[in-house]
Amino acid sequence: MYDIEKIRADFPILERTVYGHPLVYLDNTATSQTPRTVVDEITRMYYTSKANVHRGVHALSQEATSLQEATRERVRSYINAASTREIIFTRGTTESINLVASSYGNFLENGDEIILTVMEHHANIVPWQLLRRHKRVTLKVVPINERGELKMNAFRSMLSERTKLVSVCHVSNVLGTVNPVKEIVAEAHAMGIPVLIDGAQATPHMKVDVRDIGADFYAFSSHKMYGPTGIGILYGRESLLKQMPPYQGGGEMISHVTFDHTTFAELPYKFEAGTPDFVDIAALARALDYIDSVGMDNIAAHEHDLLEYTTGRMMEIPGMRIFGTAPGKSAVISFLIGNAHHYDTGMLLDKLGFAVRTGHHCAQPLMAALGIEGTVRASFAMYNTREEADRFIEALHRIAPMLA
Ligand code: PMP
Repeated sequence: MYDIEKIRADFPILERTVYGHPLVYLDNTATSQTPRTVVDEITRMYYTSKANVHRGVHALSQEATSLQEATRERVRSYINAASTREIIFTRGTTESINLVASSYGNFLENGDEIILTVMEHHANIVPWQLLRRHKRVTLKVVPINERGELKMNAFRSMLSERTKLVSVCHVSNVLGTVNPVKEIVAEAHAMGIPVLIDGAQATPHMKVDVRDIGADFYAFSSHKMYGPTGIGILYGRESLLKQMPPYQGGGEMISHVTFDHTTFAELPYKFEAGTPDFVDIAALARALDYIDSVGMDNIAAHEHDLLEYTTGRMMEIPGMRIFGTAPGKSAVISFLIGNAHHYDTGMLLDKLGFAVRTGHHCAQPLMAALGIEGTVRASFAMYNTREEADRFIEALHRIAPMLA
């Protein structure tokens, strides 16, 4: 049984009010809330175990190092990577993608092509554009159909010997579309092309198995999966990471340094320059424990129920337009009410206690393709309830006439 009251009690922030209304937090795509066990672990580390990792012989440093490496193993098993050498800690999905762009980017030549999709977050667009400061690389963009699904025939027709990388999101942060990443990887690999998957919106909502997918790189963020802020993960296939040059230089990533020459540390440390955010890394393990204790299949089923129910009832609202209607989509609803501006809708909802996001959601090219400036976005997590969905529908009924 899904014990929603018990789950909610583990997230103290859900008890607060906003403008005198109980908070209804529907901005989970931007960041999810954090359970007590994760915050407790951060506090415990600061109060009893804080010491820099890797550099010390003393007990505290060794404890901190073991906790960090235990999280690395926890993450490895969470996404079924082959080895902890393939798990690199970064600041977030954005840094994970920038790492690949700046390091793997060295292998690209003038005239090479990278395939993206029109639904990418800016984090999976701009790092590839920055490569153009040094190389004339071309970005090819896979379009979508009216439901917000990738046009796979267009994707296939873009693959060629000039393609050096395919970089696609697993789940769209605007449309909720779950892309057929396994199929994309199979098609790209058939031509010897590696694939990066932006998994920021997948890891909080579904089981991810990087080996089953066949991903060469898989990027995601802790703060979207009930974990602490400031931590991201880059999974990379060991054979590729081995060949790639370091991303940043500094402490921890070296083997030996002289003023003439430096040799680099083994994987994954080659890509982890400087003191890592070891406190938050340790606490990330508690977030993964929390997800496991509820069960990812249960979370997915609960969110799917909320999505179906809320989407169905939103259609009661006159003028409701929902962007992204792909079957099997993730629990994110981007919408506009008639011609009302997304910002006005979001502001009225805010005054009633609803945290929703408005704007382009860091996906301006997608907005351009949809012919809109932005949307209002409501997104669910494991702790949202049907009662909250009902209150959301009531609120929409209340504000729709004001916006007309
Ligand atoms: N990709 C997608 C699909 C996202 O939704 C986000 C966060 N909105 C990012 C990348 C960037 O994640 P972060 O800000 O945690 O680096």
